[in-house]
Amino acid sequence: KPWEDPILPKDVIPKNYTLTIFPRLENGTFSGDISINLTLTKPRTFIALHQYELKIFKILLKTRNGDNVNVSKVFPYEKNEFWVVIPEKELKPGDYILDLQFNGSLVNKIVGFYRSIYKTKDGNSRYLATTKFEPTYARRAFPCFDEPSLKATFSIRVVTPMEGGYFALSNMDLESEKKNFPEDGFVTKVFNPTPPMATYLACFIVCDFDVLEAGNTTSGTPVKLYARKGQVESSKHAGQIALQVVDHFSKYFDMGYPLPKLDLIAIPDFASGAMENWGLITFRETALLAGNDTTTRGLIGISGTVSHELAHMWFGDIVTMQWWDDLWLNEGFATFLATQAVQHLRPEMNAEALFVGNTVHNVLEDDSALSSHPIIQYVNHPDQITEMFDSISYSKGSSVLRMTEDFDKEGFRTGVSKYLKKHKWGNARTEDLWRFLSNEYKSVKDLPHMLDTWTKQEGYPLIMVESDGSNIKITQSRYLSDCNAEYDKKKSSFGYKWDVPIKYISSDDPFNPKSALLLSDEPYGTITFSEGTSWFKLNSKQVGFYRVNYTAEQWLNFTKLLTDDAKTIPAPEDRSNLIDDAFNLASAGYLEYNVPLQLISYLKSNKETHFLPWTTCSSHILRLRKILYGTPVYEKFKKYVHRILESVVSDSIWEIKENSSPLEKILKSTLAYLAVRMEVPAAKKKVNELFSNWISGKSDIPSVDFKSVVYTYGMGGGDQFESNWNQMWSLYLKEQDPQQKISLLEALSSVTDPQTINKLLELAKNEDYIRSQDYFNVLFHIITNPEGNNILWDYVSDNWDYLVKRFTLNDRILGRVLPALAKLFFTEDKLAQLESFIAKYPEAGAGVAGRKRALETVKLNIKWHKTYLPKLDSYLDALIF
Ligand SMILES: [Zn+2]
Repeated sequence: KPWEDPILPKDVIPKNYTLTIFPRLENGTFSGDISINLTLTKPRTFIALHQYELKIFKILLKTRNGDNVNVSKVFPYEKNEFWVVIPEKELKPGDYILDLQFNGSLVNKIVGFYRSIYKTKDGNSRYLATTKFEPTYARRAFPCFDEPSLKATFSIRVVTPMEGGYFALSNMDLESEKKNFPEDGFVTKVFNPTPPMATYLACFIVCDFDVLEAGNTTSGTPVKLYARKGQVESSKHAGQIALQVVDHFSKYFDMGYPLPKLDLIAIPDFASGAMENWGLITFRETALLAGNDTTTRGLIGISGTVSHELAHMWFGDIVTMQWWDDLWLNEGFATFLATQAVQHLRPEMNAEALFVGNTVHNVLEDDSALSSHPIIQYVNHPDQITEMFDSISYSKGSSVLRMTEDFDKEGFRTGVSKYLKKHKWGNARTEDLWRFLSNEYKSVKDLPHMLDTWTKQEGYPLIMVESDGSNIKITQSRYLSDCNAEYDKKKSSFGYKWDVPIKYISSDDPFNPKSALLLSDEPYGTITFSEGTSWFKLNSKQVGFYRVNYTAEQWLNFTKLLTDDAKTIPAPEDRSNLIDDAFNLASAGYLEYNVPLQLISYLKSNKETHFLPWTTCSSHILRLRKILYGTPVYEKFKKYVHRILESVVSDSIWEIKENSSPLEKILKSTLAYLAVRMEVPAAKKKVNELFSNWISGKSDIPSVDFKSVVYTYGMGGGDQFESNWNQMWSLYLKEQDPQQKISLLEALSSVTDPQTINKLLELAKNEDYIRSQDYFNVLFHIITNPEGNNILWDYVSDNWDYLVKRFTLNDRILGRVLPALAKLFFTEDKLAQLESFIAKYPEAGAGVAGRKRALETVKLNIKWHKTYLPKLDSYLDALIF
C-alpha cells in the first residue's frame, strides 16, 4: 500500500491551517475543527496526514471553489500514525480544502495537548491546558502534516471559559474575540496568522496565570512572562535575561526577532526543560522561575535555558531542519549559541567554564562507547526521532560548533547570518550551512570534509604526542572507553580519522594559543617549538573535541608545574582538561592510574581558586567512590582524597556571603559536597549540625548553595533518620516554590535505606505527590548511591509493565533508565540479569541505543574490575604509605 511509507509524499503541500480548539478543562477533553488549504502538485489517488489517538468524526474535501469532492473511504493507518483519505476519482493537481472535526483527551499525558494542574496557596486545584508538540505530538492535538519541512501558516482560534479568570495564549498576538461563541459562557480568541511554520512549533494555552511585563526589546517587541498565581515575581531574572538575549541575537544574526510579541511561560507539568514554540516559549517551572531558593548554578541554568530557547527563535523556528536526521542543527546550535550569549552578557556567571565541565566532559564520555552514533543519522519512526534528542545532538553538536567557531569567529558569524537570510521561513540541511561557512573560512581548504569527519562518524580522536627535541610529532587514532576494543574501521567512510583543528599553548607564551591542523589523511603532524620551551599543552581551553595523551615524562612535568604554581597554566579550562583526560585515559587503559592520582595532588596546595578543575576532579573522585564503595580499596582511596582535602576544607568553605561572586559560590559548594561525600569527619559533622538547626527551626542554612548537600546528607542515620525523612516529606508536600520543592524531593530520593526507597517508589506512583515530570528525577537520584542502584534495578525489573503503561516506550527518559542503572553493574551475574531482562522485553521504543550502551557498559565494568582495580589498589598503597 502506498501509505506504508512512513514519510509523507511531498506532492501534497499544506499552505494554511485554520484551527479552532475547544478544551473542556473540567471534563479533561477537547474538540476541534480544522480547515487545511492544500496544494497538490501531481495527480493523486489518496491523501495521507498525521493523527494519533484523535477521533475524527467529520470530513469534507473541497476544491478551491468550494465544490465537494466525493470521498470513497477514510481510515486510520495506525502503524504510521496516519489518517488516509481516498477520493472516488483521482485528484487533479491544484488547490483543495480539507475540513475535519475531531475530539480527543487532555488527561494522562504530558505531550500533545494536555491538562496540567496546580494547587493554589489555599489548597484549591486549578486547571490549565497546554501543548508540547516536538517532535511528533502535534498530530495528537489536531490532524496535520506533521513533518518539519511541511511548513504552513497557522490561523489559531482558542475557546476559553468567560469566567474564572481564564485567558488564551498562542504563538501570535490576539486579533479579535467573539464572546459567547461557539457557546454561551465561552469566548473564542482569534489570533493573527503566523508566518510559515513547522507543526511542532505551534502552541496554544488556556490558563488563569499571572503576568509580568518585562519590557520591550530595543526594536520594540514586548516580552511578557507568565506563571501560576503567586509565582510570577520569580520570573524577573528570566525576563531581564530574555530582553538582553533577544537584542544580542538580533545583532549577532543581523536579523531582527520576527514576531510581534514574545511570551515565556512556566508550566507546572512539563515533559522536558523547555520548548521553543515560536513566540510562546514553554518552560518547566524550575527552568524559568528563580526565587530566594535558587542556587547559583540554578540561576546560571535558567539564563542558559532562556538563551537556548531564544536562539531557537532564529535557529530552528525561522530556519528549520529539513528532517529529524539534522536535529543537531537546531539543538547543537541553540546550546552553543546560548553559552556564548550568557558568557558575553554575564561573564561573571562563567557559562563557558560550566559548559566545558558539564556538556563537553559528559559527552566525551558518551561518545567514547563503541555503541555511540554519528551526529547525523537517518531516522523515520517516531521512537527513533525522539531518541535523537540525546547528548550527541545537543552536547557533541554544540562542542563541535564551539571548535569550529573558535577557528574563525567572524567567519562563523557571517556564514551563519547569510545562511539564515538565504533560508528564511524555510528549511535547510547540514550541507547548506557548510556551504555558507566554507565561503567564509578562507584558511581551511575543504571545510565540508573537515566538518563531515565530525558529524558523519561516531567517536572522536585521541591525539598522541611524541617529542623529538624542540619538535613534537602528533598522531591520531579513535579514542574508546576501552583501549583494546576491536571495531571495524571500514564502518566509517572516513576510517575513524578526523580533520582536527589543534590549538596549543606553551611556556613561550601561555596566554596566546597557536593553531595547527592535523588532517585525516596525514600519517602524522609536526609542531615546532623554539629552543628552551619547557612545556606545551595541546587543546587550549579544551576547545577541541578530542583527548590528548602525552609521554609519561610530560605528564609528570604537568604535576610538577601545577604543584609549583597552578597558574603556570593560566586557563582553568586547561587545568581541568588535564585532569579529565588523565582520569579517562587511565580508566580506558591508555595510561596508568598513578598519573591522574598524582596530578590531582596539586590541589592540596590550596592554590586552585577556580571551581572548574575542582568540579572535574570531584566528579572523577565521586565516580571512583561509587565503583570502589564496599571494597577494601575504598578505604585507601578515601585516605588519599582526605590528604588532598586536608588543607583545603576548612570552616571557611561554609561561609558564603550574598555578594560573593558566582565563582566563589560554586567553588565552595563543590568543596563542601566533595568533603561530605568523601566522609571528611568535620564536614559530616557540619552538615548534621546545619540540618538539625534547620529542621528544628533554630536557624536557616547559611547559603542557598549549601541546601542540597545539607538536605541530602544531613539527615543522619539511626532513629533520627526516619523522623527527619518524614518531616522533610511533609515540607515537600506543602512547598510552593518550585526550586525548593525539587531540592527537597532530590534529597528525599538520595537515601540509602531500602525501606524508605521502596516506600518512596510507591508514593511516586501517585501524581498528587510527585508529578510525572519529576518521576524520573526521583529514579536518577535514587541511583546516586550503590545501595539505591540495586533496589531500583529490582524495582524496574518488577515494575517494567507499569512504567511502560504510564510513560510509554516512546518516552526517551524511560529509555535512559537502563543505561543509568548499568553504570554500577560490575558482575557477570548482573550482566546475565540485564540480558534476560532485555530478552523478556525485546521492545525498546526510544531506548534502543540506550540498551546497547547499557550492555557495553556492564561488559566494560566487569573488565575494569578485573584489570584495573588491582592496579589502582597498588598505586594507592604507594601513594598513601
Ligand atoms: Zn533546544
